[in-house]
Amino acid sequence: MLRPNRSAAVQHDPDPDGATRITPTANIRADRHGGRAKCLQRLIRLGLPVPDTLALDFATVFDLAQGGRIDTQAIIDALGPDPLVSVRPSSGMTDWGGPPSILNIGMNDARHAALSHALGPDAADALYARFIQSFAVQVSRLNPDLFDGRPIAEMRDAYATEAEEPFPQDPAAQLCAVLAAMARAWDGTTARLLRQARGAPADAGLGLVVQRMVLGVGNPASGESGSGVIQFVSSETGLPQITGRYLRQSQGREALVPNAGALYLTRDARGPSLEEQAPAIFDSLHVTGQLCRTRLREEMQVEFTVHHGDLHILDAVRVKRSARAGLRIAVALATDGVIPESEAVLRIAPRALLDVLHRQIDPEAATDRLAQGIAASPGAATGRIVFTSAAAQAASAREEAVILVRPETTPDDVLGMHSASGILTERGGVSSHAAVIARGLGLPCVVGASEITIDARARTLTVPGGRVLAEGETITLDGSTGRILDGTVPLLEPALDDAFQTILNWADERRDIGVRANADTPSDVRIAERFQAEGIGLCRTEHMFFDDTRLTAMREMIFARNAEDRAASLEQLLPVQRADFAEIFQIMGARPVTIRLLDPPLHEFLPTDRKGMLDLAASLDLPLEAVQRRIDSLREFNPMLGMRGVRLGIAIPEIYEMQARAIFEAACAAGPGVTPEVMIPLVSARREVELVKSRLDAVAATVRVETGVDFNYRLGVMVETPRAALRADEIGEYATFLSFGTNDLTQMTYGLSRDDAGRFMSAYVREGVFADDPFLVLDTDGVGELLTIGAERGRRGNPTLILSICGEHGGDPDSIAFARAAGFDYVSCSPFRVPVARLAAAHLAIRERGRTTTAPPER
Ligand code: PEP
Ligand code: MG
Repeated sequence: MLRPNRSAAVQHDPDPDGATRITPTANIRADRHGGRAKCLQRLIRLGLPVPDTLALDFATVFDLAQGGRIDTQAIIDALGPDPLVSVRPSSGMTDWGGPPSILNIGMNDARHAALSHALGPDAADALYARFIQSFAVQVSRLNPDLFDGRPIAEMRDAYATEAEEPFPQDPAAQLCAVLAAMARAWDGTTARLLRQARGAPADAGLGLVVQRMVLGVGNPASGESGSGVIQFVSSETGLPQITGRYLRQSQGREALVPNAGALYLTRDARGPSLEEQAPAIFDSLHVTGQLCRTRLREEMQVEFTVHHGDLHILDAVRVKRSARAGLRIAVALATDGVIPESEAVLRIAPRALLDVLHRQIDPEAATDRLAQGIAASPGAATGRIVFTSAAAQAASAREEAVILVRPETTPDDVLGMHSASGILTERGGVSSHAAVIARGLGLPCVVGASEITIDARARTLTVPGGRVLAEGETITLDGSTGRILDGTVPLLEPALDDAFQTILNWADERRDIGVRANADTPSDVRIAERFQAEGIGLCRTEHMFFDDTRLTAMREMIFARNAEDRAASLEQLLPVQRADFAEIFQIMGARPVTIRLLDPPLHEFLPTDRKGMLDLAASLDLPLEAVQRRIDSLREFNPMLGMRGVRLGIAIPEIYEMQARAIFEAACAAGPGVTPEVMIPLVSARREVELVKSRLDAVAATVRVETGVDFNYRLGVMVETPRAALRADEIGEYATFLSFGTNDLTQMTYGLSRDDAGRFMSAYVREGVFADDPFLVLDTDGVGELLTIGAERGRRGNPTLILSICGEHGGDPDSIAFARAAGFDYVSCSPFRVPVARLAAAHLAIRERGRTTTAPPER
């Protein structure tokens, strides 16, 4: 049944000009003839029964689009006596699309009459009708409704009337027109924009393949005829499963159009199957699938035609797959020895892991988009709209899923964010407060949705078109694409199965740059641990102060009139900080934990509304006016450039001293394996480090005496200001490590507020001012140069200095490549991005070492 294709064995005349016959040895290249042509050659090399095929390369097709000519009679002659032929697109990558295939070229009145005789009038009509319809619509650009379901004579008449010429009868002229139309379609604006959106370069070429038709429509008395597609794994799960359809007396992919007459492939209680009705064909398809898997080293979907009992393989494409299926397929191929483990690792795009780590919108689901924002944290969530942090907390107490909608978030909102299923903000960019916290929590988040208008007082949200949504109405957020959708939408669950773990274990065995997590609370640290972060690269201590009791103590500290009062409030904070650190050290064991001393401006801890101020006045037993005055006195014109970071530590040293004591006492209690790392934020001068270091040393000495435990700590400096990068040699002298806070460093290098950039960022990227949002993808030219300078000068001043990146860029594959090339030791990113970073790091190492020489098949 599985007869080899004759191209493999038969000697042919020379190729027609501009076309290359696909044989096992022909010079067919994916980058010149397209993926389909290359794949057909691979199938032919496997000895599969592929009908004779000629390939037209990109240059020829480009020329046809410009009005060039080709000898189509020679092409037809090369495919046998009086053949019917098909033309299919062959772009560089299947995903880039291409014009629809056209079948049965060569059908004309004479052929119709002959086939009516040989195969019966129904079969001949079906073949001719299909061709007239495709030619009329795709080549002559006529309205498809004129042809639908009409008899052949009427179709021909309709064509003649609309096109003002008779339907062409000369096969060479038909082919000439088809080739030119398909070539021009590729050049059209819509096609170009569509393929560019799918990642194709602007100058991507199109090849075409011209194949001798195997009809699939035949005389029932002469045996089985029909067509179908088959694949051997599930596109959804990647598990072995035969999927596809077969339709008797059909061509092309007709079997896939819902059709009551289609046969199941395997035995099925719901109806007849190919396995029962044509077992030999079914077995041959099985053999074909196995051959593709082991020899093409890929799970392929095979398109086939059966004619009068003989099986022909028309095409094969890589099975379409969900991210989850992609993982399972790669692991299965490597486990079965078909591909090396390192190639399995390379076959998974790091960002694809985000799809399995989070819930996703079911791609099959119907959706109604209300508005669009910036995708800031991946995954999808459905919930009722709430407009305040308090409402989110109340809803979570009732176990209700909510989407917290805010103009932008502040530290005050953190508890509400913890309670919400998703976050939507009107303002902000990808490193705004909302985005950073949401990524840390693994919550879907859309920011900078400037199309929506929030009326906080009325508790409504207005979307483009004027529709007003009230608190309590249900929306769905897609944090992976930035879409805000109406109502409830079906979601797919995350899939952290054994294939996910296996790929990441293989990745870890190969990567050579460390991956830590940014985690602020014990619960974040547990997630980081679950994703096998090698340590905590950034614990932002301010996030520990936002639960009610702690916030009150913090506010009392800020309002303290003198050093004694301040010391008293810090005394209250000390045990809670110590308990948090102790828990974090206990979770991470011997793995390093970097704790950053307090960073944000103090006013972020103060209430912003009247009710909050009243509560504070009551708890501090102060007049409201005094509270307001104090809050006013803390107000700064540019808080992000003001009294924050190490400046706080120098102006109010007691805060850092309390934090240092909490860290050291927790480390002593945790046992000898724990060496805490303490990091100073927003440094810009050497003296800042000197001052803080001497105080930390003094606290460490006191704790050593008090506890009797002889511990060590490592000091780190955050490089977040351009000056710190430029002076890294002297700043790094006192430090064990420098950690580049690329969020602030980007903000300060561009002079671009990370909280306000969302307003114009999309316009900037659209206009090509910035290639990408620099808060998302590291600006390797500008900020990158500061990283390189900082790394080089830092190591000049201190050769054993450890270097890392802990800004949001730490989880971005391109930024990891930059950090690795610049000699950084590790990156640190949100826990949910840790798997992405581990895989991206492994890709870099594998590619560099060239451990695998075989690239994945082009299609
Ligand atoms: C940074 O600035 O890159 C950083 C990690 O600190 P934060 O985001 O807390 O300002
Ligand atoms: Mg910072």
